[in-house]
Amino acid sequence: MARVVIVGAGQAGRRCAEALRDLDPEAEIVLLGEEPHPPYDRPPLSKAVLLGADPGNGLFVRAPEFYAARRIALRTGARVAAIEPAAGRVVTEAGERIGYDALVLATGARARRLAVPGAEDPRVLTLRTLDDAAALRARLLARPRVAVVGGGLIGLEVAAAACRLGCAVTVLEAAERLMARCVPPAVSDLVAALHRARGVTLHLGQALRAIEPRPGGLVLDAGAVRVEAELVVAGIGGVPNTTLAEAAGLAVRDGILTDAQGRSSAEGIYAAGEVARFPHPFLGRAARLESWQVAQNQPAAVARALCGEAAPYDEIPWLWTDQFDWNLQVLGDPDPAFELVRRPAGEGRATFLALDAGGRVRGAVLLNNGREATPCRRLIAAGKAVDRARLADPEVPLRQLA
Ligand code: ADP
Repeated sequence: MARVVIVGAGQAGRRCAEALRDLDPEAEIVLLGEEPHPPYDRPPLSKAVLLGADPGNGLFVRAPEFYAARRIALRTGARVAAIEPAAGRVVTEAGERIGYDALVLATGARARRLAVPGAEDPRVLTLRTLDDAAALRARLLARPRVAVVGGGLIGLEVAAAACRLGCAVTVLEAAERLMARCVPPAVSDLVAALHRARGVTLHLGQALRAIEPRPGGLVLDAGAVRVEAELVVAGIGGVPNTTLAEAAGLAVRDGILTDAQGRSSAEGIYAAGEVARFPHPFLGRAARLESWQVAQNQPAAVARALCGEAAPYDEIPWLWTDQFDWNLQVLGDPDPAFELVRRPAGEGRATFLALDAGGRVRGAVLLNNGREATPCRRLIAAGKAVDRARLADPEVPLRQLA
């Protein structure tokens, strides 16, 4: 492959570049990112970065010299304005034309903005980039009353960090439970109890209707409840950055539609990471997944495709969240419709296993119990019916059941 241009220098773009270099010592690799920073991973932003703790290698992952040493032409502050597929080139906002033999779109997602009246107030923030995290931390240090809109992963991680920094925190969640997108109700209840025990006020089943400016603060109107705050953080999900792809005529439906190795509908153009919607073998459907795991490993499958290797991306989904001193990991598909088996693991720890109608483990939630992640992954991969009583018995090692 002669010249591969990767648009988007986040985790997915970086991983695609690295994996491609490993497979092809000759390829010319150009990595274009609009942000002023070299690639970084986002998980620490809503955790260590907000708290002012050292995120270590979890943030930038690679030293600045890495890119030149691996002959990856990293260009920061280079925003691509258009793709010209017929000419095989991209055009940057500065007007530079860069030709490609293959193009990888790793443009990621952006924070969804609140669409209610008053949401454009400068005291309403979102968290997506390193600069967002720095700006949010600076505001949190003044210990405002914080209203978090959205009780998903980002919202709850921000709530926990703000609370730890001494802010009074209220969470407004439209759904009847927290983290409804990724954990079953029993786990949502435990997470709610954790936050309440640490002093976070939770309002569930309360969709925000409007934000009203007041002298010195804001009032959030959610119908049944009104919340006063000096700072609002919206954590209401991500929107894939597909504008470039759409303008170039690629098939897009809440993400760039690709095959299991990131090939888009246009010859020679691929999508990597959370902007891609691809057939997921485990889930049995097309999915666009916003997780560290997908940004880490799906781009390697794209790199293989670039090199003509047939090896689709087919991991069992995995994500984690840290809130206060809790670590929650979610594996597979713990669909709330499945039967949930609780496997105690001592004080403050448990593994929850989600069984489908055939008694097979399809998903797991590990509550402060990451040590069972590997056997859980094996159980899920095995796809065999398991004995519920043995599953719930902490004396029976999970690996005996896989
Ligand atoms: P993120 O990755 O940003 O945490 P999630 O999809 O995990 O995204 O969570 C977003 C949460 O925000 C969901 O639980 C959703 O119900 C909630 N939400 C979305 N819009 C509103 C709203 N207008 N008011 C309150 N909660 C909302």
